[in-house]
Formats: sequence, C-alpha cells, structure tokens
Amino acid sequence: MLDEMYVRGTQVNYYFVCKTKLWLFSKNVSMEQESDLVKLGSLLQRQFFGREEKDVSIGPISIDVLRRGDEIEIVEVKKSDSIEKADYYQVLYYLYYLSKFGIKAKGRISYPKKKKVVEVRLEEEGEIEEVLERIAEILAGEMPKPEYKSYCRKCAYFEFCFCG
Ligand code: SF4
Repeated sequence: MLDEMYVRGTQVNYYFVCKTKLWLFSKNVSMEQESDLVKLGSLLQRQFFGREEKDVSIGPISIDVLRRGDEIEIVEVKKSDSIEKADYYQVLYYLYYLSKFGIKAKGRISYPKKKKVVEVRLEEEGEIEEVLERIAEILAGEMPKPEYKSYCRKCAYFEFCFCG
C-alpha cells in the first residue's frame, strides 16, 4: 500500500512536470527511493495509529502528516510554486489513495517563501482517475521524446536527455 502511494504520488507529479521524466522515473526506481519508501511506511504507521501530531519530511516529496481530531491532514512543503499544478495533483492523489482505505483526509500545500497556502480537497474522484489512466498509457508506450524546458538543467536526467 505505502510503496504504491509513494511511487504513484511522484508519478502524478512528474506527469505534469515532464512526460519523459515520468517515464524514466517509472522505469528506474533507485535504492534511494526505496529507502524513502521505508521511511514513509514507518511514518504513516506512526501517524495513523500512533501519537496525536507530529510533522516529518520525507525525502524528495516532503510529506508531513498531521492528525487533527478525526481528520488526517497531509502537508506538502515546497520551495517554489512554479509547478503548482503538479503539487496539487500529487496531494490530490494521496487523498484519493487514502480514501480507498477509508481514511478521511484533507491536504495542504505550503509555499513558505511565497507565504502561500493551497488547500486540497478530494471533491470528486474522476479528475485524478483520468490522470492515472493517462499515466498508465504513457508507461505502456515508448519513452516520450525529451522537450527542453526551463527547469531541465536542474533535472537528474538532464545529461541523459540532452548530452547524449
Ligand atoms: S531533462 Fe527535461 S526533458 Fe529530460 S526528463 Fe528532465 S525535465 Fe524532462
């Protein structure tokens, strides 16, 4: 459950960032990501079934999970809002995933540098299910051709895409 949540959450984010990155990430799960999965697993166990409230950042996706009353809150803290749509759908996916296990949750994305907060609620499942279908189609096909974007130079796959 938790492995899938982590991997697919990142895939949802990359779907909006870059289809090539989505494809490469999905075919190349590294040891580093596996260790993050372990951390995420123990975090969620503690949060859902453990103490009242605690925030912990996890690897590249920086999830904090808080429990407030009956409701779980998933918090993503991001340095920049340049890919806000990707952040939004990533959190939406977590809420969708948790709802499948009967866990009621809401989401919040925090951009401290911009002093900005975006609330995320799972109002209807269709929009995230459509994204998941598109991701499955991309992964079933050939690698999407890299297209240069402003953030490519900061991407781990830059040399692979443009220096070959
Ligand atoms: S370098 Fe650019 S095109 Fe290549 S995977 Fe990264 S974001 Fe996508």
